[in-house]
Amino acid sequence: METSLAPGLYIVAGPIGNLADLTPRAAEILRLADVIAVEDTRVSAKLLRHAGSDRPMVPYHDHSSDTLRQRLLERMVNESVALLSDAGTPLISDPGYKLVRDARAAGRFITSLPGPSAAITALTLSGLPTDRFLFMGFLPSKAKARADSLAEVSALRATLIFYESGPRLSASLAAMAETLGDRDAAVAREISKTFEETVTGTLLSLSTRYADAPPKGEIVVIVGPPGEAEPASEEDADAALREAMERLPVSKAAGEVAKKLGLDRRELYARAMTLKG
Ligand code: SAM
Repeated sequence: METSLAPGLYIVAGPIGNLADLTPRAAEILRLADVIAVEDTRVSAKLLRHAGSDRPMVPYHDHSSDTLRQRLLERMVNESVALLSDAGTPLISDPGYKLVRDARAAGRFITSLPGPSAAITALTLSGLPTDRFLFMGFLPSKAKARADSLAEVSALRATLIFYESGPRLSASLAAMAETLGDRDAAVAREISKTFEETVTGTLLSLSTRYADAPPKGEIVVIVGPPGEAEPASEEDADAALREAMERLPVSKAAGEVAKKLGLDRRELYARAMTLKG
């Protein structure tokens, strides 16, 4: 067991509800750090008691004054500064990005202690594809801004992860269905706590389910990728080839259409020769 820490910044992931999910290494850092930067001292005091830490806390947010951030950066020259969020991994819809950015620019030692994040845990619960995903954080609350931000990602072939609150859940699910289409989705609630539950369905069915009974507690919404696009038909391919051949030699036309429609270039070349002949 270490008795003192090298100076620098220690990003410490905490539990997302179940204190037992604090890793032994995170607990050790919290016991040894010279100072712990936290969002809310009352929330973190509970975790520090659980970890057996009596280290001093200072409140930190990314909108804290530059002076406060500067002071923490100066402390990192000779002291160990731990960064802790109210829940889960710091910087993930939580403060810390500017502190890490500036610590990196100043050449300070930085390490991050991996641990829970509601986004990843909900993804693993959802039964939706996990090979490509995009973390969207909290959607804006105003309808227009929310629709704009959904429209930006509607064509993306990736599973989407959103943080949400109970009172906004039904309206958000309906807005997602309107812009993204009625995709498969999952609502993961109170992960790692007594009333943990994951409900799956399409966006509209979930929106209806929660319309009259907004759920309590903390929520992550996972939305599956759009369905497979229909493969291009022979007519589509012929039309695209004819159009391309008006501008390009046959082999280049076949190459362009193959790329655009995701079809085989050699087959398109043969078809183009037939169309030409
Ligand atoms: N940094 C945290 C993380 O790594 O997950 C997220 C902090 S963000 C301010 C808080 C949001 O995360 C909540 O509103 C909720 O959407 C989600 N969340 C946190 N804990 C959760 C839990 N136990 N179950 C479901 N969602 C949770």
